Amino acid sequence: MPSLFVAHYGEIGTKGANRPVFEHSLERNIRDSLRGLPGLHVRRAHQRFLVTVDDDAAAEARGRLAKVFGLVWFAQVDSVPLAYPQILETAVEKLSDVEKGSTFRVSARRSDKSFAMSSQELARKLGEDVIAALGLGVDLSEPDATLFVDILRDQVLLYRCRTRGLGGLPVGVSGRVLHLLSGGIDSPVAGWLLMKRGCRPTYLHFYLAPGPQNVLQSKVVELVRHLGTYGGDSELILVPFAPYQLATSDLPQEFEPVVFRRFVRMVAEALSSDLGYPAISTGDNLAQVASQTLQNIVSIDSGSSLPTFRPLLAFDKEEIVDLAKRIGSYETSLKEYKDCCSIISRHPRTRMKVRDVDDAVRHFGFKELARRCIADGSVVKVAPGQATIRPLQDVLEEYAGEASERVTN
Ligand code: ATP
Ligand code: MG
Repeated sequence: MPSLFVAHYGEIGTKGANRPVFEHSLERNIRDSLRGLPGLHVRRAHQRFLVTVDDDAAAEARGRLAKVFGLVWFAQVDSVPLAYPQILETAVEKLSDVEKGSTFRVSARRSDKSFAMSSQELARKLGEDVIAALGLGVDLSEPDATLFVDILRDQVLLYRCRTRGLGGLPVGVSGRVLHLLSGGIDSPVAGWLLMKRGCRPTYLHFYLAPGPQNVLQSKVVELVRHLGTYGGDSELILVPFAPYQLATSDLPQEFEPVVFRRFVRMVAEALSSDLGYPAISTGDNLAQVASQTLQNIVSIDSGSSLPTFRPLLAFDKEEIVDLAKRIGSYETSLKEYKDCCSIISRHPRTRMKVRDVDDAVRHFGFKELARRCIADGSVVKVAPGQATIRPLQDVLEEYAGEASERVTN
């Protein structure tokens, strides 16, 4: 037996002439998210989506729909033909578990005006007939149960409860960003918030582990995989910290955190230019740690040519932790992992001058050093249950080849 769901979007409805683009993306994301479920069928109808899966996959489908950005609510529904007797029969069946003497209300909506009764007429008539059949009372403002009845062109949908979706916009509609991911609590939450507004992040992580293979077993890949349950299969770029560490061994300790973050930014900018990312993003939070004072953020950003998005800038740590728990990344973020920031001095200057950071950039030849780190980089394609790794150089060459083809055509 198939189970049918109706899924609704919110903000997309205000998108005017661009609405079809957003709807198309959302439909693709719904399909991607439900990929592999038996009996899957997705179609768009009257500014909503109708999703069918086999009965035994209904619970899984519910869980996955709750993670699709762009949906404001969804419901498992019964579908009946456009005929009053069938509507009544199903209405009675769906309200039969409501205790005698309790109250209910019918909320009817007509998306197709060709149905003979208006929404109000249908709600009233159904209400009367349900009272006669089940002995329930009516309460329009605070009922014990609500029966929703949606009339479409070719069928009528009946359901009792709506599940709230995540809202936001479909992942991908706003474009791609290169997101700096540590193994901490903040950056996964920041990545999630960017997805909520339609960005598709590619993750960039600097690793201290002996080789990229070690990172594959770590919580970093686990975090990317978990974020993928919201945004689909993802790419994680791994860049070694070792070349930087060797080259900057005589850097004064109090300069370390800010200078390293400037270096990270330069690597991210070089990659963005090579791979076409229009913006970079981080999990920075204003004044949370010494490297994130306003002055230090200014010094880290100085000389950047791309915008840096920091969706968590004004959150309190408690708010970030709450969100991490809701997203489901919190427990993974707490797992043991030796991040490169852990070996960098924790007592930096809180007001590092742009000039001092610029001097370090020149002194250590960061442009060239960034290229060397990138040359040793890898790309991991992270999907459910698997992670495949290949040299970053191969991906860069492929992208350059495709870009020159695009120019030639
Ligand atoms: P998080 O919980 O995200 O690690 P944090 O509060 O520990 O954040 P920092 O360690 O100062 O703060 O890092 C600030 C931001 O720099 C992170 O949110 C992340 O975007 C980026 N970042 C930190 N470490 C790395 C890393 N190893 N690779 C890539 N980006 C990193
Ligand atoms: Mg950190």
